[in-house]
Amino acid sequence: MQHRYRSKILDEIRNHSLDSDLKLAHQFALDYINNVDDMPVFPKPNDLDSLKVFDSPLGDEPEKTEDILTQLHQYGSPATVAQTGGRYFGFVCGGILPSALASKWLTDAWDQNPAMYVLSPVASKIEAVTEKWLIGLLGLPPETVAGYVSGSSTATIIGLTIGRNYLLKNLGYDVFGQGLFNAPEIKVVLGEGAHSTIYKALSIIGLGNERIHKVPCDDQGRIQVDQMPPLDHKTLLILQAGHVNTGNFDDFQTLCTMAKEAGAYVHVDGAFGLWAAANPEFKHLTDGVQLADSWSVDGHKTLNTPYDSGIILCRHRQLLINSMHMVGSYIILSEDRDNMLYTSEMSRRTRAIDLWATLKGLGRKGVAELVWELHKKAVYFGDLLKEGGLDMLNDIVFNQVLVRFKSDEKTDTLIKMVQDSGVCWLGGAKWQGQSVMRISVSSYKTTYEDIDTSAEDILRLARELDS
Ligand SMILES: *Cc1c(COP(=O)(O)O)cnc(C)c1O
Repeated sequence: MQHRYRSKILDEIRNHSLDSDLKLAHQFALDYINNVDDMPVFPKPNDLDSLKVFDSPLGDEPEKTEDILTQLHQYGSPATVAQTGGRYFGFVCGGILPSALASKWLTDAWDQNPAMYVLSPVASKIEAVTEKWLIGLLGLPPETVAGYVSGSSTATIIGLTIGRNYLLKNLGYDVFGQGLFNAPEIKVVLGEGAHSTIYKALSIIGLGNERIHKVPCDDQGRIQVDQMPPLDHKTLLILQAGHVNTGNFDDFQTLCTMAKEAGAYVHVDGAFGLWAAANPEFKHLTDGVQLADSWSVDGHKTLNTPYDSGIILCRHRQLLINSMHMVGSYIILSEDRDNMLYTSEMSRRTRAIDLWATLKGLGRKGVAELVWELHKKAVYFGDLLKEGGLDMLNDIVFNQVLVRFKSDEKTDTLIKMVQDSGVCWLGGAKWQGQSVMRISVSSYKTTYEDIDTSAEDILRLARELDS
């Protein structure tokens, strides 16, 4: 008879009641949420300095959850970037809607592994239902399937892998068995304005960065249709719904039609812009996008889901499954949806539930209005800055505003001053060889008053810089 070993540490953890810990987490979270709008949008130097309390070696003895939470709230909360407040305009970052935050707390307690139906029937059900909803909202073909991944970066890797495999398979080459060693050459075509994650994905999947055909774009970052090279059945064409700087959209109708006639494969990077399809006033921006073969999109930007929410959508179900295929004697597939067939991961969070709860918490109308409000607010922001003397560089077709202040030097300095001021946060970029300020209105929390306050601060700092 074996000695029944029991760890004293684990015994204590098992005997401890979670009640007070969860209450404390709840109290700290509410404290954070209630104060986030009064925090500097980027932490101040003394709060960043305090992060050194985390620089400690892992202790031998367990610490109490209460102490862990207290340290996180005391030193971590003040050092967060106030992205869930109303005045964060950096990169493209959404807030977090209440239905998803609350349901995430509950489903974190479930800690389901959504890989297979037998691991989590509820995750299987919700992934399948959300897939249908997404197809409806985004106006995609009925045969489209969805895989839930960490973000658009991963969704793009999967989309381009399917594209590569589609073309090689049509060329009679067994890429699944033979890899790329003796594969026929594929032609990758994209716009000069493609997001950097596209280049990363191409390099990861063995297509490299130096043999790409880059098509010149116009001053809004859209592919110039008359500059397109000839397309054929060896072409992987990558288009964009929502340029990261201008927010503009490629001409899908024309480009997808050209691609389809040639037998090319089309992937669309729609990280934040694909949601334009969910509003009738905006739908024209995505006209023709449904002709593509696959699409990558995020929940955690425009839709304001919690992070860790990207989606790969693809009209070739079997090819997606073949591309993400794995086997093992212990794998039990079912008649129901086995989620791991649609992504590169096996075990992961049940992130689709966040997306499902967000969509349910908004309804079709709420999604449409969210997209429309972000746009209207971006236009409002742009008008204030233009009236205040900044140069407007883009047509605000979606939620992105690009402005500039006189020279590269002044623009870069102004960005730094705005960031230090703490009223709002925005970043810079190079656009057509010049320094620009990027403003992304992406959070449902942003009010017109937030924009007034932010624009006032930006213009005050611009005057100061100019005097
Ligand atoms: C943000 C973004 C990406 C990358 O998405 P992640 O979710 O951060 O991985 C890709 N393309 C565009 C246009 C983006 O804005």
